[in-house]
Amino acid sequence: MVKVRFAPSPTGILHVGGIRTALFNYFFAKSSGGSFVLRNEDTDQSRKVEGSLEATIESLKWLGISWDDMVTQSERLAEYQKYAQELVDKGLAREEEGAIRFIVDKNQGTISWTDAVGNKEISYESENIEDFIILKADGFPTYHLAKVVDDHLMEITHVLRGEDWIPSAPKHIMLYKAFGWDVPTFAHLPNVMGTDGKKLSKRRGAKSVLDFRKEGYLAQALLNYLMLLGWSPKNDREILSKDEMEKIFSLENVNSSPAIFDERKLQWMNGEYIRITQNSELKSQILEFDPGLKDIDENLLLAMIEPAKTRMKTLAEFGVLIAPFMNDLPTEKSQVRKDLYEVFEKIENWDKETLLNNIKSYLDEKNLRFPDIYEALIGVRAGLPLADVFEILGKERTLILLK
Ligand code: GLU
Repeated sequence: MVKVRFAPSPTGILHVGGIRTALFNYFFAKSSGGSFVLRNEDTDQSRKVEGSLEATIESLKWLGISWDDMVTQSERLAEYQKYAQELVDKGLAREEEGAIRFIVDKNQGTISWTDAVGNKEISYESENIEDFIILKADGFPTYHLAKVVDDHLMEITHVLRGEDWIPSAPKHIMLYKAFGWDVPTFAHLPNVMGTDGKKLSKRRGAKSVLDFRKEGYLAQALLNYLMLLGWSPKNDREILSKDEMEKIFSLENVNSSPAIFDERKLQWMNGEYIRITQNSELKSQILEFDPGLKDIDENLLLAMIEPAKTRMKTLAEFGVLIAPFMNDLPTEKSQVRKDLYEVFEKIENWDKETLLNNIKSYLDEKNLRFPDIYEALIGVRAGLPLADVFEILGKERTLILLK
């Protein structure tokens, strides 16, 4: 049975590249009927950043990703110490000033494996690999030892991780062999680059998952977009639900070339998700995002979602778009505004078609365009579809607004 793990080190924010690794593991487990484990790789105590594990957990939960089990490496020191000692006893590692170093057999020739991403063989010459520390003097294991011991004991079948780890794989293979254990399948995922072609990293200002939530992205949209960073479902469809991806994800369709994270594409996709979300559901999400909007009458708010969702790319935009129509228009009154008041005052059938026709004839008559009306009313040259909004507000409220 397939068993995979996501193994973040709590050393900072979970950015786009990191979460993408988590998602590929999760969807691979789901699509193959396997299980998914979260492993907190906290053995490098000096690099530990307070709160990063909690933020990782919150990010995964927000995206709807659950795990079957969770382990924390710092609680398992005795285990690693035991296995390091086993290698010393076998003459495959030596102690130096309290630390234990693995002795690389440089005569074993080529170390190679077939990577499940791109189905390609990768090889390293053992003579180029130096002896390496597996247990530090403070009793903590290094990443190499802890990873191999845990992947074995947890019966991990596939190791999906970023391609930065490729150079570590020959060391891991040597350790598996030294213990006499089976080597799992490696699947090294392509890097995630920015639109400038450089790798996204914490240092280069990559955003965290929770930053995207703060900016008004929907979890479903972010999830969907991140899945397309390195995975292309057959027939190149782009909008895919979580349920669907849980069925169709496969390692064969993971590309080996780098993926580009393009925030504008994510914004576009978020807008698409906003448009397919039911209004009542969107209303809850908007209120959760922007609790200040609870002051607005609930039915009015719900009604405003229909015209607003055609214009929104993020949840954050809703409040901005509706604000001018909820409060007072600017005190300074333009001629256009006075004219519209007169036009609207005469309308008897207060529906959006009539309103739109009247607005259009007014524009024709004065040789103006829609952006001029927006400018005159709300001070910017675009906004919500006006006839729809005035229909929702009703004649009385619209006239008060324009007065
Ligand atoms: N702790 C490593 C990291 O932070 C995990 C690498 C792996 O998945 O083996 O990326």
